[in-house]
Amino acid sequence: MNKRIFSILLAPLILTLGTARADASEPIQVLLIEGQNNHRNWPETSQFMKSFLEKTGKFEVTLTRTPPSDGRKQNYGASHPEVPEMAAALQAQWDQWRPDFGSYDLVLSNYNGVLWPEEVQLDFMEYLQNGGGFVVVHAANNAFSQWEEYQRMIGVGGWYGRTTERHGPKILWENDSLVLDHSSGKCGAHGKRQPAVVDIRNSDHPITKGFPNSWLHPTDEVYFNMCGPAEGITVLASAYSDPDTGGSGNHHPIVLTTDYEKGRVFHIMLGHSNEAFSGAGFQNLLIRGSEWAATGTVTFPVPDAADFSSEIIVTRAP
Ligand code: ZN
Repeated sequence: MNKRIFSILLAPLILTLGTARADASEPIQVLLIEGQNNHRNWPETSQFMKSFLEKTGKFEVTLTRTPPSDGRKQNYGASHPEVPEMAAALQAQWDQWRPDFGSYDLVLSNYNGVLWPEEVQLDFMEYLQNGGGFVVVHAANNAFSQWEEYQRMIGVGGWYGRTTERHGPKILWENDSLVLDHSSGKCGAHGKRQPAVVDIRNSDHPITKGFPNSWLHPTDEVYFNMCGPAEGITVLASAYSDPDTGGSGNHHPIVLTTDYEKGRVFHIMLGHSNEAFSGAGFQNLLIRGSEWAATGTVTFPVPDAADFSSEIIVTRAP
């Protein structure tokens, strides 16, 4: 085949695979995945995210709900069950669940449950590897400890059988840089829920450029001992884990991005309770992070630094 014919044949294929939006003035199309989560308030937190993303006028959010769990008790020491282990009626529902990732600019996961069927995993990997956007929030970074590529997408995760030996180093923030801790042990921990100061650690990134340096976030869990391949990570913000209330006494990355092939991933570990979703800083970061993951640029304005301090919690209706 000569080169010219090859290029002509390949061109439509490349256009089909590309996820770049034809018209930047059109809303960013978001697919929000929900349906199972050990955080029982997930139907509410999904609606909060849909609401504050759409209020900006920049996003249109479509929810897709997976089949329900089979009701077995959560076992944080073992990975989530896989579809073939489930009852036939549920398997039939899973056979129907085939999200069309390629029709969206962004996939947002509020899901922590049964491992997706292999076909869906492969579709999602292809979507992201070809330049899709992905946002993962609190607890969705607990999912899929047995899915190796998912660890690469999110950089680090916690619980459900994750160990440093099997999954990779834990991450923390020390002396102004990301530290990889290879010491052995289980991954995923948090102290008592309480308000936490969030510190921006990178002001050059499009998501955090111009953002207030630090602010008090409402009562939430500060995750620590999160582990994984930790490749291609850019830390955007950290929070201190208070040793007086069961924390580690260290600062831990809680907002980061990862590069996964051509895909852009925004990972925010905050968001345990409904209260957390009312945080003005949290909402703004999630909006800006979503815009960046979908398009590579950010146009949504940062909050006014004068409104923020490390002593007063600023909230907005989600
Ligand atoms: Zn939680």
